[in-house]
Amino acid sequence: MKEYKMLINGRLVNAVAGKTYPVINPATEEMVTDLPLGGLEEVNIAVQAAKSAFPIWSKIPTSERCRLVKEIAMGIRENADELAKLDTLDHGTPVKMAFHMAMASASCLDFAADTARTMMSEMIPASANTLTYTKKEAVGVVALITPWNAPLMMICDKLGGILATGNTCVVKPPSIDSLEALKLAEIISKVNLPPGTVNIITGPGGLVGNALSSHPDVNMVAFTGSCETGKVIFENASRTVKKIGMELGGKNPYIVLKDADLDVAISKIVMSQYINTGMICAAPGRIYVHESIHDEFVKRFVERAKTITAGDPNDEKTFMGPLVSAEHRDKVEALIKSGIDEGATLLLGGKRPTEPPLNRGYYVLPTVFSNVTSEMMIYSEEIFGPVACIVKFSSEEEVIRAANDNLFGLCAAVFTKDTAKGIRFANELQAGTVWINEGLTASTDLPWGGYKESGFGKVSGVKGVHEFTQEKLVWVDLYGGNMQPLK
Ligand code: NAD
Repeated sequence: MKEYKMLINGRLVNAVAGKTYPVINPATEEMVTDLPLGGLEEVNIAVQAAKSAFPIWSKIPTSERCRLVKEIAMGIRENADELAKLDTLDHGTPVKMAFHMAMASASCLDFAADTARTMMSEMIPASANTLTYTKKEAVGVVALITPWNAPLMMICDKLGGILATGNTCVVKPPSIDSLEALKLAEIISKVNLPPGTVNIITGPGGLVGNALSSHPDVNMVAFTGSCETGKVIFENASRTVKKIGMELGGKNPYIVLKDADLDVAISKIVMSQYINTGMICAAPGRIYVHESIHDEFVKRFVERAKTITAGDPNDEKTFMGPLVSAEHRDKVEALIKSGIDEGATLLLGGKRPTEPPLNRGYYVLPTVFSNVTSEMMIYSEEIFGPVACIVKFSSEEEVIRAANDNLFGLCAAVFTKDTAKGIRFANELQAGTVWINEGLTASTDLPWGGYKESGFGKVSGVKGVHEFTQEKLVWVDLYGGNMQPLK
């Protein structure tokens, strides 16, 4: 396999000490290649490079910066086939979806570039003798730390805003699933950016991510990942009062009211539950179903879940590939076991496939639990796997209370034919996104972000681009305190 390298100060490089770490294909458990293992030395060089590039990059006219961001987007589109292959190899993303993810990542960069051109200043005529305007300015060096669940997208949904508004950055992709990030490094190295504008370092979170989020010359940390790591980063960043964006985990309530269209609810919730093998922050965490339709819903949900094609991600027909790693499969299996031990009813799956070729790879079959109750671990913990947890409820008031009684507040969904009622639920639910008769959809044009321990700040949409700026008020006294009446 060809060699993939880190991007530091405009050059594609190996680790200074020549160290590497292996990439494992989650569908076969075979080693794919070695990647450079960055550490503290690389962090210091990259942060210094980003700091030196900042005065140059931030002073380039916005239109030109945005043109260069669009060149990166174009490079992603031109290399979408290779990026998709790497996503399938490294993450186990089914081929069809992998290509779509690469194209959507390019769109994120385009949207940010278009947005940044229109938002950098606002005139506010506060009084007759002053000229007052606000000006959006870049924050400085941004550390972008991302998770493995959608490796390229999780970088690109923030990278466009970071660059288009004039920041420079050091990207720390996840320690597993870094192949696409290094392909992106290669694409970016061919775009004529000032050296050091984008640096990409692969290596362990506890070392590289920790050093970046503590580094005195990093001005902002944009983090997407688990709540646990988010809290460590929050603490690190607080020491030098860095700006922070936090996109953390979720345990999202999907609520099916008694008047819901069951065909719509079932097809959308099944898709939301099993796409990307459940490794999506917005996936259903608790599926609340009204008691009057509960049994019918459960029966049809299981029938539908049985039609999910789980298997080789290279097969065009596959909808659900493996989990990302042996370690993550252990975590998902432990939670499944806790569900069984604590008395939930296992209706489907709950185990690995045993037939070749799926008897190797980190597969877990689509799993459905009913009779899930609030004391169980699977009710409150983010599983991040293909495990549906169905909970019965009897009153609307009760379900709103239960849905909100959780540390997270990322997103929620309500299924009902009564749109006005859906909107009343949206007003009550403590979540950054509420879908009505929809599930797990997002758009580059729309803001995304959580409430409570799911984080703060937005990615995507116009607001997502604003996050990477700070606002300055410029106040000009036009008459030096001596305004004369007009003659
Ligand atoms: P994670 O927190 O384990 O890792 C995320 C990143 O942080 C990785 O790059 C990792 O190497 C790095 N890291 C680990 N320890 C660190 C430390 N001490 N200091 C600095 N960086 C460190 O998360 P994950 O397992 O890769 O991803 C899954 C989580 O991400 C889930 O909880 C999921 O809900 C969340 N997520 C949230 C969103 C969102 O939009 N809210 C989107 C995708 C994923």
